Amino acid sequence: MTILFYKLLLGIIVGSLIGLFSYITHFLTKSGAFAVIFIATIVCGFGIWPTWGLLILFFASSGCIHLTKKAIKMTKDESIVEKGHTRDAWQVLANSLPAIVSLILFYCTENQLFLIGYISGIAGATADTWSSEIGILSKNLPCSILTFKPIEPGLSGGISVLGSIASFFGSLLITLAFCLMYSWYPVSQLSTHLFIVVPLTCGVFNSLVDSFLGATLQTKYRCLICGQITEQPLHHQKQTKKISGIFWLTNDWVNFFSGCLTVLVSWILIFYLQ
Ligand SMILES: [Zn+2]
Repeated sequence: MTILFYKLLLGIIVGSLIGLFSYITHFLTKSGAFAVIFIATIVCGFGIWPTWGLLILFFASSGCIHLTKKAIKMTKDESIVEKGHTRDAWQVLANSLPAIVSLILFYCTENQLFLIGYISGIAGATADTWSSEIGILSKNLPCSILTFKPIEPGLSGGISVLGSIASFFGSLLITLAFCLMYSWYPVSQLSTHLFIVVPLTCGVFNSLVDSFLGATLQTKYRCLICGQITEQPLHHQKQTKKISGIFWLTNDWVNFFSGCLTVLVSWILIFYLQ
């Protein structure tokens, strides 16, 4: 019990540092920073130290990419996406909750299947964040994942070569970092290659599912003034017209559902491959 208390306390401290860094770099809003403190507390309390490392790596790497883009003024128009590029609490929770649930299951059962679910979830969140942060810088227009026709940069459902490469490397970073940290642990029920193959695949899978749900089910609007397709219900302070998708299914829900699916697929893969 005492150990859990100290781990939770450490989580609050680590979470505050990540939150502060992410807030200063404008990667997160104030509510987003508080969500990080909550998540870091749970990960530190219920996880082993390599799982804390992954969380730090996810926020530090995404924050650094965000900061670099700002420093060299590579940020683009925010009039398409629903909330702009600074992430709030809902975005943080939608991205990380599925992984957190898997980690708590690992704490309760000590079954490494759930540990891989956590790594896959974080790999997916990193892959998705990197692909949207870096993919939007692509010189070529992204294509719709459904029709392969060019669409507006930044609009959900688009894929680009640059974004896909970024997504792969985001997933790879998390996977390799975990293997490196976990190699210090003497006991493992599962073979090492499962710790590499499953999270790496699931991370990239997360980006694809995210784009697919973004293209099909996510709500989209057309601005009645400039005609642009957007994810914002208001454009130029005027109500936009809904043209597709389910009205409550925002980008946060898409992130949450693709995260859930990613973690679920990783459990199924481990279940059959082990
Ligand atoms: Zn407009």
